[in-house]
Amino acid sequence: MSNKPARVRFAPSPTGYLHLGGARTALYDYLLAKQTGGTFILRIEDTDQKRYVPEAEENFKNALRWMGLTTDEGPDVGGPHAPYRQSKRKAIYREHAERLIENDHAFYCFCSPERLSKVREEQLANHETPHYDGKCRQLDPAEAAQRVANGESHVIRFKVPHEGTTTAHDFLRGDITVENKVLDDIVLIKSDGLAVYHLAAMVDDHLMGITHVIRGSEWLPTFPLHKRIYDAFGWEEPVWVHPSVFLKPDGKGKLSKRDIQKARESGYPVFIEDMVEMGYLPEAVNNWIALIGWSYDDKTEFFTMDDLIEKFSLEKLNPAPAAINFSKLDHFNGIHIRNLEVEDFAQRIKPYFEKAGYTVNDAILPKVAAAIQERTKKLTEVGDMAGFFFKDEVELAVDRIVNKKMNAEQAAEAAQRIVQLFNAVPEINADTSEQPLRNLAKELGLKAGHIFGLLREALTGQKVSPPLFDIIDILGKEKTIARLEKAAKMMSEA
Ligand code: GLU
Repeated sequence: MSNKPARVRFAPSPTGYLHLGGARTALYDYLLAKQTGGTFILRIEDTDQKRYVPEAEENFKNALRWMGLTTDEGPDVGGPHAPYRQSKRKAIYREHAERLIENDHAFYCFCSPERLSKVREEQLANHETPHYDGKCRQLDPAEAAQRVANGESHVIRFKVPHEGTTTAHDFLRGDITVENKVLDDIVLIKSDGLAVYHLAAMVDDHLMGITHVIRGSEWLPTFPLHKRIYDAFGWEEPVWVHPSVFLKPDGKGKLSKRDIQKARESGYPVFIEDMVEMGYLPEAVNNWIALIGWSYDDKTEFFTMDDLIEKFSLEKLNPAPAAINFSKLDHFNGIHIRNLEVEDFAQRIKPYFEKAGYTVNDAILPKVAAAIQERTKKLTEVGDMAGFFFKDEVELAVDRIVNKKMNAEQAAEAAQRIVQLFNAVPEINADTSEQPLRNLAKELGLKAGHIFGLLREALTGQKVSPPLFDIIDILGKEKTIARLEKAAKMMSEA
């Protein structure tokens, strides 16, 4: 494929939020644009008023921003082909539809919805696939134009020949040939004057100079019609790319809307906003979705955005259905978290601490980040893992300290002895304190594990935490000793 600057567009309909499938398309668009020094365009396909969701557009924009997919042209940034919102391009579509009528590739249709549904019922009863029966194809064009001029309600339909075949070429799937008789005289302009996707997207793709159309494979059935529309205008086609469909995580069957809802209810991220909510990094999400249906070679798995821009290629997209593997996402998240600079990681986790109700102390945040970066798999874990750093006091669970091997009195004594030990060293760290703590355990007839467990509980109020001496280093001597004293007091009163 040539490396000419590509002009690609992501063209969502604002009927819902950005989900994995759409996000993958947008990512592929972006990668192709960046790789070729081309242009990434956002176009809002809002011609379907019935399914319009007002917050959807904002959701797309936020999601694209979060993924790092900056648009070069679009409703907010503008560009040479504005407007980039289809509802503002009504006149353009009308004019193009009329052009098709003039060259006999389209016709006005005055059939009432009642008549159409009757035809449909009859066809279904005859086991036929419902299709337009062609009534208004026969009308005299001048007479039809007069009826339109008189204000009669009408639609504009595409005129498909009944004989012959149409061959559309998909970059990944090769030639797709269908008999023209199975193609319908689809509506291009509805009775409310709005264009449907089939016309609006083709016209815009042409006028906006789109070189590659990457879009969901749900458009494959109407793809031959789209090719015919291009031909009817006499336009040069873009490269058409319909990437793989998503399969259920077990690989059995297409991922349906219901499966998606089910996955979401079981805690899997489906929309980009879920990803943020559930603590995934955009780097991980991009890496993960890039690989659903694309691979670079049979071994490389880790890709930064720069890697993807450099290595992505349409040639290596695999059109075979691809299963969604959510555990892979967790895996990538861990890897990308570890790949961040500590400072960067610190900034990423800050909002998650805040969301969990902690007031973050910026002075110690980088150290906290360093202590937990290795073991963090999702950013949402940080509150439970390290929120104790930002508490004034931790709540101790006496029963986690006191057990068969160590009663409350012994625990109180041990805590006091640790305080003495820590007070005696210039700085508390593994070098100065680990061996003395072990000796102390022996002296008190306890296991080292008891002493370290007691310490961990007293300092963090939790069983699992970052390494002990990291905690002490971050808390500082004063807080460490205060927390131990509080524990000693609690044990002696228990
Ligand atoms: N608006 C269409 C959709 O959301 C876009 C398809 C395309 O990219 O051509 O499915």
